[in-house]
Formats: sequence, structure tokens, C-alpha cells
Amino acid sequence: MSITYGFIGSGNMAKAMIGGIVTSGLAKPDCVVASNPSAQKLDLLKEEFGIETILKDNKTAAKLSDVVILSVKPYLYERVIAEIKDMVRPDAIVVMIAAGQTIAANEARFGRPVKLVRVMPNTPALVGEAMSAVCFNTNITADDKKIVMDMLNSFGRAEEVPETLMDAVTGVSGSSPAYVYLFIEAMADAAVLHGMPRAQAYTFAAQSVLGAAKMVLETGMHPGALKDNVCSPGGTTIEAVAALESNGLRAAVIDAVDTCVRKSKEMS
Ligand code: NAD
Repeated sequence: MSITYGFIGSGNMAKAMIGGIVTSGLAKPDCVVASNPSAQKLDLLKEEFGIETILKDNKTAAKLSDVVILSVKPYLYERVIAEIKDMVRPDAIVVMIAAGQTIAANEARFGRPVKLVRVMPNTPALVGEAMSAVCFNTNITADDKKIVMDMLNSFGRAEEVPETLMDAVTGVSGSSPAYVYLFIEAMADAAVLHGMPRAQAYTFAAQSVLGAAKMVLETGMHPGALKDNVCSPGGTTIEAVAALESNGLRAAVIDAVDTCVRKSKEMS
């Protein structure tokens, strides 16, 4: 059975998710539909992925879809759900990807039983390396869960979490690519300070972050043990670690994630 995926709103996250769905072969391009008020954005998506596009007509996109992905900004959810709710088929799965949008609040907006899924992806979906958290409402069946997990796994990793953890997820993965970009940029600045060409410095810094992340995921070792392994007594690395600690790296990162989580809670 072929599944039709419909994106209501076709910005950055929709593009990243569509890229995963189409390039992984999960769905043929003609089984992906996107609607948007901007013809220019739709034209680019059509050109890049060959998907079906519908200008300024969320209702038709919703009606055609087995999986309806609400990929508009959070403040538009109320308006968009009011617009499409009578077009969403009773057996369709509705996927919400917006920060702060809860299952309970959006079930109420539909005003009837609806299969609702809350997902927090992140933009590395664009390169097939998203980290997505997902939780389901009680109308979702085991078959529905498989459809959703297959979609999320087509552009990265996904794990089910209780909805109470969604704000923490926003802090640790939804928003965290931005913190890592700062870290990469700062490391590269320091390399440039010592004479390395800018482009090369970004490659060295980014590949090191990628490699270190893979070490954590693939060895299953504690990050502290991996750090210990690269810190020779009296060596260069422990000097750098001591400087990071004396400048409060851990406290700064914890504070940043905590602030993000609090902001996400305020938006719920
Ligand atoms: P975006 O602004 O790039 O995309 C939103 C799109 O919706 C735009 O193309 C806009 O033209 C379109 N739009 C506006 N009004 C519309 C309407 N009435 N009907 C249909 N489309 C309409 O935003 P984004 O970064 O793709 O974010 C989309 C959602 O994804 C947000 O709810 C955000 O919270 C969530 N999200 C984003 C990220 C991220 O890192 N960007 C991460 C996780 C979740």
C-alpha cells in the first residue's frame, strides 16, 4: 500500500523531511504533497524532489494525505487546524512538529477523535542525521506507529518519549544544532588565530565534532571515559580541558539548555 505524505507549510523543516522521505525511497515523489502560500518555495521543492505541490490550498493537501504533517510555525496551528480539520480523513495520521504544541490542546482543536502524533525533529534531517523525539495519542495503533517511525527514520534517528519530556527534547536536540555551530565556529576561529585558512579550519573543527559524536554513539562508552582516554598526563589536551572548565563551559551549556527548556514550557 502506498502512503501519501502531505505537508501543510513547506519551509525549512518540511524540506528536510521531504528530502529524507524521497531520497531514502520511502515514498515515490508523487506520493508527497506540499502546500504553501508561496509559489516560489513550492517551485523549488518540485524542482529538487519532483513532489506534488498545491498553492494556497491546505484543504486539498489534507484531503489527499494518509499522513498530514503540520509544518507551519506554532502560532499558525490554531488557524490551520480550523481550516483543514473537516478534510482530514478519520484514518489519517496527523503529525505535529511545532515547539510547544501539546497533544491535548490540539485534540481539542479537532473537536473529534483524531490520530495525533507529536514530534520534535531537528534540522540535520537535511543531511539524513536528524534526532527526532516522538509521542503518540491514544488513537494511534501499532501499525500507525510503524508508519510514523519509518518516516522519521528516513531522515535520521527517532525515539519515543513521554510527552512530559518534549520540552527537554527541545533543549537537547531540537535547538542544539545552533549551540554546536557556535562551538565549531569558536574552535575554527582559534585555528585561524594560529594561521589555519578559514575553510580548512571549519572542516577540521566540524569533522572532529562529527567523529567525537560517533564515538559516543557507536562505542557506547561514557563521554567522561572517552575524554579521559584522550587526556595524557601533562599533555596538551588536559591543558585545553582545564581552560574550558575554568571558563565555565559545563555551566554555560547547562544554563543554555535549561533556558531553552524553560522557553519551550512557556510556549506550551
Ligand atoms: P519556516 O518558516 O521555514 O516554514 C514555515 C512555512 O509555512 C513557510 O514556508 C511559510 O510560507 C508557510 N506558511 C505560512 N503560513 C501558512 C499557511 N497559512 N498555510 C500553509 N503554510 C503556511 O519554518 P520551519 O523552520 O520549517 O518550522 C516549521 C515548524 O517546524 C515550526 O512549527 C517549528 O517549531 C518546527 N521545528 C523547526 C525546527 C528548526 O530547527 N527549524 C526544529 C524542530 C521543529
